[in-house]
Amino acid sequence: MVKVYYNGDVNEEVLKGKKVAVVGYGSQGHAHALNLKESGFDVVVGLRKGKSWDQAVADGFDVYSVREASEQADVIMVLLPDEYQPKVYEAEIKPALSAGKALAFAHGFNIHFSQVVPPEDVDVFLVAPKGPGHLVRRTFEEGAGVPALFGVYQDVTGNARDVALAYAKGVGAGRAGILETSFQEETETDLFGEQAVLCGGLTSLVKAGFETLVEAGYQKEVAYFECLHELKLIVDLMYEQGLEGMRFSISDTAQWGDFVSGPRVVNEETKARMKEVLTDIQTGKFAKGWILENQANRPEFNAINKRESEHPIEVVGKELRAMMPFVQQKSSKKEKEVVS
Ligand code: NDP
Ligand code: MG
Ligand code: MG
Repeated sequence: MVKVYYNGDVNEEVLKGKKVAVVGYGSQGHAHALNLKESGFDVVVGLRKGKSWDQAVADGFDVYSVREASEQADVIMVLLPDEYQPKVYEAEIKPALSAGKALAFAHGFNIHFSQVVPPEDVDVFLVAPKGPGHLVRRTFEEGAGVPALFGVYQDVTGNARDVALAYAKGVGAGRAGILETSFQEETETDLFGEQAVLCGGLTSLVKAGFETLVEAGYQKEVAYFECLHELKLIVDLMYEQGLEGMRFSISDTAQWGDFVSGPRVVNEETKARMKEVLTDIQTGKFAKGWILENQANRPEFNAINKRESEHPIEVVGKELRAMMPFVQQKSSKKEKEVVS
């Protein structure tokens, strides 16, 4: 069973009197920096000049280059996009590390897959809120919090766990629950979830359903509503009440169809494929491919992205959503924050 900690379990004194550098001021960065500051911690922000820099200044922070912020800080939280972390780490953070400092992350990828190799004399921990940054900020302002995972990779001071917990409390997670994990578990489950279920599994399921109906001669507009549009209603019910609560709300016909046909579509064969996906994550094969893809400037990523954007479900979807102004079009930035 996972261990869960709440505000009352956390000694925040271990982080008081220390300086935290929040590096990056995007989705997670702005939420961590503002919540920590309002929790009474000493926060500076590390950035390059640009949009985020101006925003952090407007929000009242002392903003420095990543190098300068890291030099001043006792705890350096790296909230840059995962693909850029290794470069910025090598150039600007590593030279600013000294014995006893703490290096922190909100996702374990770069540490777990050795893209960032920290020196042996610093603490390394992660605090990963289980929600997009804007939700982390909004719930904090409302007096609540988003649950977070925390984990320790390296503890040289003997304080890494306590500092990680104090940090998680500072961002508001102790109001909801702070769950203990490891870098390995957080990284592998995050990748598996987005590949097999949340993103990869779901988009493939939706497209396969849409294509099946259209190939059988049904109108693509009707197929779009049945296979994509109505998902939101079902997912909202599952989010609020689990599978049983969702099934309570649908018709008995839909529920019977769920029971008899669901396992024919997603079956033992599918699960065997999921295990292959998990194996590729565990062995580092997936990570290697993604790292090399980035080094090559993403030729395959871009080609697939273009092909996917031209799929008939996308073409008809654009037309139908234009008929439904109540379907709010979120910016691509916001969509990015949902699953990261
Ligand atoms: P964003 O893309 O929202 O923000 C990135 C920030 O980094 C921006 O402020 C950007 O500033 C800055 N930045 C980018 N490149 C550089 C650079 N070379 N030097 C200095 N600053 C730079 O990132 P996220 O908040 O989505 O992700 C941060 C971390 O949090 C990742 O590890 C991610 O996995 C993790 N995470 C994210 C979640 C989410 O909901 N988004 C949830 C849980 C974890 P600029 O304006 O200059 O580009
Ligand atoms: Mg129906
Ligand atoms: Mg992810």
